Amino acid sequence: MDDETQDAIEELHAMLDRARVIVPFTGAGISTESGVPDFRSPGSPWMRNKPIPFDAFLASREARVEAWRRKFAMDDHYRDARPNRGHRALATLVAEGRSPGVITQNIDGLHQASGIAGSGVIELHGNGTYATCLTCGWRHELAAIRAQFEASGEPAACTMCGGIVKTATISFGQQMPQQPMLRAHELTMSADLYLVAGSSLVVFPAATFPVIAKRNGAKLVILNREPTDLDAIADLVVRSEIGPALARLAN
Ligand SMILES: [Zn+2]
Repeated sequence: MDDETQDAIEELHAMLDRARVIVPFTGAGISTESGVPDFRSPGSPWMRNKPIPFDAFLASREARVEAWRRKFAMDDHYRDARPNRGHRALATLVAEGRSPGVITQNIDGLHQASGIAGSGVIELHGNGTYATCLTCGWRHELAAIRAQFEASGEPAACTMCGGIVKTATISFGQQMPQQPMLRAHELTMSADLYLVAGSSLVVFPAATFPVIAKRNGAKLVILNREPTDLDAIADLVVRSEIGPALARLAN
């Protein structure tokens, strides 16, 4: 690590020490150390497939079969993923009451696995570790859906109402989840230090939250391996992997 990055990390920790309310906003970059692929990174196997839009998923059995096939193939790649130093550092901030919760674009459930209670993780793009019925909202576990899919080749139907079952993630063309969006806004407005960690801030509307925080008077720190469009308005930019930068906070 070069001196400039090291200095930026020291400044980051000084800012964390001074802050009263720290709100982390995380993206794929925090989970790469856990082995979860970043879908948008060059070379990711998922860049080869065009995403299946929500309306196509609803309209076509073939699209649902393809969506489940991809989902289970992807799960095989990161079934052993565990929270890393970055997740644990943020869990410490929450446990110590220095942060009210983490806003995340990730669907991997690793913030919860790091020990943050469910209500402390605001998932803007949903959760890929279980599924729900689009009609009645009933929760379905992936293991049962997979067993049935592999036995019959048919996409899951809700055992309660017969409705279409989908992973609890937000697809392209699907409405943003109202409750998490409201909660994310609330947390964003409470921050005096807004810590973007591992997000390239390209997916809207999620990426507007750091702008809202900054406009509301929070200090904005962007901790990301690559440059982002919001670097220019940040109070501090740390160009680093998340784990090494936050490691000293991790229990
Ligand atoms: Zn149902």
